[in-house]
Amino acid sequence: MSTGKKEKKYLYIRDNGMCRYCGKKLKYHQGTIDHYVPRSKGGPDDYYNLLLSCRYCNRIKKSMIPNNYKSILTKQFIKAIKDGMIVSGVQNRKNEEIEKIAKKMNRLEKLGDSTVFQSDCHRIVVKNNVILKMSKLSGTEESKHQTEEEQHV
Ligand SMILES: [Zn+2]
Repeated sequence: MSTGKKEKKYLYIRDNGMCRYCGKKLKYHQGTIDHYVPRSKGGPDDYYNLLLSCRYCNRIKKSMIPNNYKSILTKQFIKAIKDGMIVSGVQNRKNEEIEKIAKKMNRLEKLGDSTVFQSDCHRIVVKNNVILKMSKLSGTEESKHQTEEEQHV
């Protein structure tokens, strides 16, 4: 997936037409798409890793990874689900159900080829704006991070 028109349209609306770094109001053509975690550092093209930026801020940020990237990406993930921009590739799951579970995501567990978000009891694996897997965290054995398919909510 490459970042193009569709992405920019969504980001421009989501970010209220303002640069997320300096707050400058941007005309549509002035806005650029910034990868919050840079591509060169493994940041995906997914909506939760993209934000609207002016050219200047995009340029000076370069390949820096912001300290707060985990919380920003988690927030943007929840927003993208709410906005219907991330779709479910999991069978037998209603959108409302997914949204309800996604809303509780409070940490980014892994970023890479696929991204893993977690709440206290669920884990969601997402790639290319599609939810690949949703599972319930089992037990309290933190060392194993074992998951099992969830039967119901
Ligand atoms: Zn800016």
